[in-house]
Amino acid sequence: MGEESQSPMDAHILIVDDDAAIRDSMNEFVQMAGFASITAGTAEEALQLLETNSVDVVITDIMLPGMDGLELTDRIKKNHEIDVIVMTGYSGDYSYEEAISKGASDFVFKPVRFEELLLRLRRVLKERRLTQERIHMLEKLKRLSITDGLTKLYNSRYFYNQLKIEIDRTTRYQRPLSLLLLDIDKFKEYNDHYGHLEGDKVLIRLGQVIKSCLRKMDSAYRYGGEEFTIILPETEGGEAATVAERIRSAVEAERFYPLKDSPPLAITVSVGVTEFNWHEEIALFVQRADKAMYQSKQSGRNRVSCLFTSKD
Ligand code: GH3
Ligand code: MG
Ligand code: MG
Repeated sequence: MGEESQSPMDAHILIVDDDAAIRDSMNEFVQMAGFASITAGTAEEALQLLETNSVDVVITDIMLPGMDGLELTDRIKKNHEIDVIVMTGYSGDYSYEEAISKGASDFVFKPVRFEELLLRLRRVLKERRLTQERIHMLEKLKRLSITDGLTKLYNSRYFYNQLKIEIDRTTRYQRPLSLLLLDIDKFKEYNDHYGHLEGDKVLIRLGQVIKSCLRKMDSAYRYGGEEFTIILPETEGGEAATVAERIRSAVEAERFYPLKDSPPLAITVSVGVTEFNWHEEIALFVQRADKAMYQSKQSGRNRVSCLFTSKD
C-alpha cells in the first residue's frame, strides 16, 4: 500500500468562508493543487453540503455569521468521519486550544499562506490515510481472530464468548435459548478412503449447508475438528429440534464426488439438541448438548436427539 500512490484527486475538500473573495481564491488554489473541492459561505450551508457530498477534509474560517467555525467543527466531529482545519486571524478571540479541543486536526492563521495550507492539508490527509489503514487492519484482525479458516464459520473461542453473552441476555430477560451440537458420522473412514483434502471439502460444504439452514439471529461455529455448534437465541427446545432436523436432512441430501467417474457419496451427521435451564453453569449446558449428540450416535447416527434437563 504505497502511501504516495494516492493522488490528491482522491481527496475531497470543503472550504467554508463568508468572504467570497477568500473562498474563491482558496478554492482555485486547492483545485490547482489537484484536489476536488466545493465551497460554502456559512456553517449551516456547509452542514447541508456534508449530507449529500463525500468530503475528507473541511477547511473552515472560525468567524462566520450565524454558527461559528468552532461549533461547526464540533458538529462535524460528532456526526462525520471528517478532518477539520480551522483558519483564524491573529487577533481573533479564538485560541488554538479551543479549536483542537473541538476536534480540529490543524489550525492556520489568516491571511492564509497557500503553500503552508497545502503542507498542512497533505499532512492531515496522510495522517487520515494511516488511521484508516490502521482501522481496516484491526477490523481484519478481529474478523480473522473469530473465524475458522477452513469453513469460514466462527471459531470455538468465539463460540464461548457469544454463548456467555446469550446466556446473560437469556437470564436477564427470561427468554428461551437453545443449542445444537453436530458431529459428522464416520468421518474418519471418509478421510481414510478419500484423503484429508477431500475431507476438508466436506467440512467446507457443511459450513455452507449449515449457514443456509439458519435464521438471521442464529450463529454457527466450528467447535472442533468435525464438530459444529449452533446457538439459537429466542428458541425453545422443540423449535430447535425442527432446525436441527432441517440441517440433518439438508446434509443428507448433499452429494460429494471424491473420486472421478464414481457414483456420488452422501454423508450424514448426528445432532444433539438442548435448551438452557436458567442459572445453570455454561459447561453443563454444553455437556448436555454433547450428551444428546452422543445419544444420536448410539442409536444409529444420522439423527437428532434432544435432552432438556440435567437429569435426563
Ligand atoms: P463418529 O460417527 O463416531 O463420529 O465417527 P468419526 O469417524 O467421525 O469419529 P472420530 O472422532 O473417530 O473421527 C473424527 C475424524 O474427523 C478424525 C479426523 O480424521 C477427522 N477430522 C477432524 N478434523 C478434520 C479436519 O480438519 N479435516 C479433515 N479432513 N478431517 C478432520
Ligand atoms: Mg467427533
Ligand atoms: Mg464424527
